[in-house]
Amino acid sequence: MYKEYDYVIIGAGIAGSSTSYFLSKHFSSILLIDRNCDVAQGASGAAGAFLSPLLGKPNKFKDLVTSALKFSSKLYKENIPEEINNCGVVRIPKNNEDLKKFKTYEEYMDFPYEKYEDGYLFKIGSQVNSYNICNFLTKNIEKKFNYEVNKIEKKDGFWLINDEIKAINLILTTGADISLIEEKYFSLRAVWGQKIDVYTNSNINRNYHKECSLSASKFDDIKKKNIVSIGATHHRFNCDLKVCNHCIKSANINKIFSHSYSQSTVNKDTEKLLKLANDIKHLDDVEVFDIKIGARASSVDYFPMVGKLIDSKKTIEKYPHLKNGSFIKDDMFSMIDNLYVLNGVGGRGFVLSPYLAYNLVESILKNNFLEESIKVNRLFKRWVKRSS
Ligand SMILES: Cc1cc2nc3c(=O)[nH]c(=O)nc-3n(C[C@H](O)[C@H](O)[C@H](O)COP(=O)(O)OP(=O)(O)OC[C@H]3O[C@@H](n4cnc5c(N)ncnc54)[C@H](O)[C@@H]3O)c2cc1C
Repeated sequence: MYKEYDYVIIGAGIAGSSTSYFLSKHFSSILLIDRNCDVAQGASGAAGAFLSPLLGKPNKFKDLVTSALKFSSKLYKENIPEEINNCGVVRIPKNNEDLKKFKTYEEYMDFPYEKYEDGYLFKIGSQVNSYNICNFLTKNIEKKFNYEVNKIEKKDGFWLINDEIKAINLILTTGADISLIEEKYFSLRAVWGQKIDVYTNSNINRNYHKECSLSASKFDDIKKKNIVSIGATHHRFNCDLKVCNHCIKSANINKIFSHSYSQSTVNKDTEKLLKLANDIKHLDDVEVFDIKIGARASSVDYFPMVGKLIDSKKTIEKYPHLKNGSFIKDDMFSMIDNLYVLNGVGGRGFVLSPYLAYNLVESILKNNFLEESIKVNRLFKRWVKRSS
C-alpha cells in the first residue's frame, strides 16, 4: 500500500521549509522529504544567511529583492525573533570605482540608510540562524529524512515517488540538483561556495559586506569568546551535488569531492575569507571552528523559477511552429498538472524563499497568476527559440 499525501515536497532547504510552512496553514496532509539526515544540510546549511538590500539603479530584480527582504525580515522577526540579529548591515565600497557607483545609487536606495564608517548602514540588514529557521518553519510538518528520491512518475492522476509514496501534488525544491526534472529548458548553474565560523576576541557590532560578509559577533559563554561568520566564496565546480555538510564532517573531503573540491581548495578559501574579513575589521586571535560548503542554484538570468512547469513535448506537438519563432500566448502552453517548483534562489535564498513560497502557495490556492519574471515560461520561450 502506498502512503498518500495531498502535498509532497522534495528538498528540505529554505525553499522547501518555507513552502511547507505556508502550505501547512491551509492543508494538513503534507510530507517533506530530504536525502539528508535533517533540514538545511545542502546550500541552506552553508549559508551565512545574511539579509541585505540590493543596491543599484531600479530594475525588476532589485524590486523583487526589496519586496522579499521586507516580507522575509518581517516573517522572521514576528515568528522567530530569537533567530534574527537585526543589527543592520554596513555596505562598504571595495575601491574608488565602487565608491563612485555607490554615490550614483544614493537616489535609488529602497531602504533608509546613513553614512557609517567607510560605508552605508542599512538598518534593515540582518543575519539569521539558517538551521534554526528551517527547523522552526518545518516543526509541524511530517518529514522523511535519509530518503533519496530517484523516480517521480504520474499515474492515474497521482504522483508516485519511488513507487512508494503517492501524492496529489508534488513540489520540487531540490536546489542545485535538478536531476528529477526532465525538461531541457529547466537549467541551473551550481555555484559552490564556502562559509566559515570563527572564534575571536574582537567585538563586532554590525554586519558588514565588502568583498565578503562579516557578521556581528555573538558571545559564546562556554568558550568565553566571540563568534563571527564569514562568507562566502564562489566556484563553478562540477561536483557531486549529493554531498552534504554532515558527510563532510564525518569523512575525508578529498575522497568525497575527488579533484574539483579538494582539501586544498577549502584551505585556500578559508585563508581568502580571513583576509577579506580582516580588510573589513581586524579580527584578534582567530580560531576557525566550523567550515561549511554548499552549491547555490542560479538560473541563467538570476531570477528564481517558481510555479508550474511547461510540458515542452506536448506544447511543441500542439504548436510545432513555435520552433520557427512563432508567438503563442502563455495560457496556450501545456502545463504539467499538479507539479510545482521553487528554485533558482541563488545567493539570496534566505531573503527570497519565504516570499516566493508565500506567493506560490497563494497562487495554488487562488489559482492566481505569479509574476511573469519568476515563472519558468521565460526559460521555455528562450529554449524553444534557441532549439529551432
Ligand atoms: C557558502 C554560501 C553562503 C551563502 N550565503 C547566503 C546569505 O548570506 N544569504 C542568503 O540569503 N543566501 C545565502 N546563500 C544562498 C542560500 O544558501 C541558497 O540560496 C539556499 O540555501 C537555497 O535553498 P534551497 O532550499 O533552494 O536549496 P538547498 O538548501 O540546497 O536544499 C535542497 C535540498 O534538496 C535535497 N534534494 C535534492 N535532490 C533530492 C532528491 N532527489 N531526493 C531527496 N532530497 C533531495 C537536498 O538534499 C537539499 O537538502 C549562500 C550559499 C552558500 C553556498
